[in-house]
Amino acid sequence: MPSGRVHEAINIGVLGLASAAYWVYQEEIAISQPVAVAFVSSFLLGTFLITPDLDLAEQQVRAKGRWGWLGLFWVPYGWMFAHRGLSHTWMVGPLTRILYLGAMGIVLYWVTTAITGYLGVNLDLQTQFRAPSQEILWALVLGYYASQWLHLIADGVWPDSGILLRSGRRRR
Ligand SMILES: [Zn+2]
Repeated sequence: MPSGRVHEAINIGVLGLASAAYWVYQEEIAISQPVAVAFVSSFLLGTFLITPDLDLAEQQVRAKGRWGWLGLFWVPYGWMFAHRGLSHTWMVGPLTRILYLGAMGIVLYWVTTAITGYLGVNLDLQTQFRAPSQEILWALVLGYYASQWLHLIADGVWPDSGILLRSGRRRR
């Protein structure tokens, strides 16, 4: 199976081709710039920072290294998911990482508010958050999923009928 470096190269290569096609067929495709930016951003996020191989985060993986010391937060994910198991499925796999990240974010938010509350600082994090438009949201989801799917294709994992719940059997 390809190394992290090869995965990144494949993803960036495909993104390059897609960008070229977008540039040539701009008028026909008619995707607004914010939507394109959202897609590319989340594609890059899924290529460099949130990859299926984080299921090996208890060891050293490229994506984990990119998080710096925050990479430690991925270690429990590596414990929870067997390499090339559920983490490497088409629909649920990418979702597990987002849910995991969300759970970590909530914990971090609690800790931060507890500390700032203790110190008497009012961060007011909630009012600063504005939900993106539905179009942007879809672009984010698609960009992320596209990056994960390219990884799976490169790994030789294809979607099939039992994909949603199948975990261990597909491992090589
Ligand atoms: Zn992989």
